[in-house]
Amino acid sequence: MLVLRSTRMVFPEAERPAALHIENGIIERIVDYASEDPTGARLFNAGDLAVSPGLVDTHVHINEPGRTTWEGFDTATRAAAAGGVTTLVDMPLNSVPATTTVAALQAKREAAQAQCHVDVAFWGGVVPGNAGELDALVDAGVRGFKCFLVPSGVEEFASVDEKDLREALPVVARRNVPLLVHAESRRVIAECGLRVTDSNPKTNPRSAVRDPQSYAAYLASRPPEAEVEAIQLMVRLAAEYGAHIHIVHVSSAEGVETIAAARAAAVPITAETCPHYLMFAAEEIVDGATDFKCAPPIRASSHRDALWHGLGRGVLDLIATDHSPSPPELKRPGDVGDFMTAWGGIASLELSLAATWTGLRAFGASARQAQSAMSVARAAISASSDETSELTDERSTLPPLCWLARWLSAAPAELAGLGARKGQIAAGFDADLVVWNPDVEGVVDAATLHQRHKLTPYAGRSLAGTVVTTFSRGERVWDKHRLGRAYGGRLL
Ligand SMILES: [Zn+2]
Repeated sequence: MLVLRSTRMVFPEAERPAALHIENGIIERIVDYASEDPTGARLFNAGDLAVSPGLVDTHVHINEPGRTTWEGFDTATRAAAAGGVTTLVDMPLNSVPATTTVAALQAKREAAQAQCHVDVAFWGGVVPGNAGELDALVDAGVRGFKCFLVPSGVEEFASVDEKDLREALPVVARRNVPLLVHAESRRVIAECGLRVTDSNPKTNPRSAVRDPQSYAAYLASRPPEAEVEAIQLMVRLAAEYGAHIHIVHVSSAEGVETIAAARAAAVPITAETCPHYLMFAAEEIVDGATDFKCAPPIRASSHRDALWHGLGRGVLDLIATDHSPSPPELKRPGDVGDFMTAWGGIASLELSLAATWTGLRAFGASARQAQSAMSVARAAISASSDETSELTDERSTLPPLCWLARWLSAAPAELAGLGARKGQIAAGFDADLVVWNPDVEGVVDAATLHQRHKLTPYAGRSLAGTVVTTFSRGERVWDKHRLGRAYGGRLL
């Protein structure tokens, strides 16, 4: 037996001193901090370090097999362990083949076999014409599906339209799994694309923003309207089919409001945002800084605030990284800062805990103020909607670390159907834990990150929250800057 003790154990509803008795990788029981240890038990005293549930990241592009030079299972799960992520769910695209058939899932599992340091699960893909594969993919173990309403960036993973969705959604509803949707409208983006590439000032008064290095031009090419139109389509279909739709990487205030309205009408829709939308703002992104390119784009700081309020109101359920690395030559093509041709994706798997915590602290200026920021959100929403105010009332007194655990661990575990054993410090759950210091700040040295390519917009940023030890099913998978248990991750 292992006894793990901390004065700051983060439970779903409270942060308090406690000790965990861990046997066979499972939290067997939770006892008083001062209780006597069973004879023969191994001891791990975390002292005043926080012990949170290991992070569950439901939005990770590992790219292996097929684009292993971009990222792979070994490096990605190493980065995960270093960042306190104990379970990740791999996206069906950017690997070749894409996970749209059972044979492709098999290829993915074979590539992952014996290469993972933390536990890994898989999403399948919905693409035009593969509705007949979906049942078999669920039978083979995918936790749900992902689709795109706009071009995905890789040719082997085609986007879907309403007709394709109508073929897939009956299966999604019947199998009771979520469909994750990249929600931007192809129509709106095509229109905006014309506007920003038309340099004739007579037909395009906004032609001044057509410079490919201009962040403003990139931002204008993917406006909030694109997000709203796509979410509205998914809300309609979710209501019609009774299928669980999950909107990935919500980036705008308007997106949050569209989801809030749907939830108030009891439509089965959930949503996530990402650390980079909660941390950065368009105002600070200089022209040519393609390290910040992602889709949808990082918007003005008013949107960032709206996303935090969306989390506080329970309109956004969770935070996932959308870890999507590429080789530097694709992220900074020709080194000329061209937003139109640079790869859209931000690699932050290892930094999600620190980035989110730092963002929350900045939003509230301190842990105490973070709580009052939640009360501000509560006051704002209780004026407009009864349904969500109830939810917020119940959670508004939660300590900030409990909010983090909810957004980064419990809610994503639920999304992936792993909520009965992952994402919480509770008896009977896997002993997946992160021991960390929320109070120590460090500057991100990109060269020390464990992802395959080190390029990240977080480089040089000061982030609060350093991971000391990560436990995966009771074993130290990461300890004091080094890999502990290697290659012990399971495919879920
Ligand atoms: Zn993604």
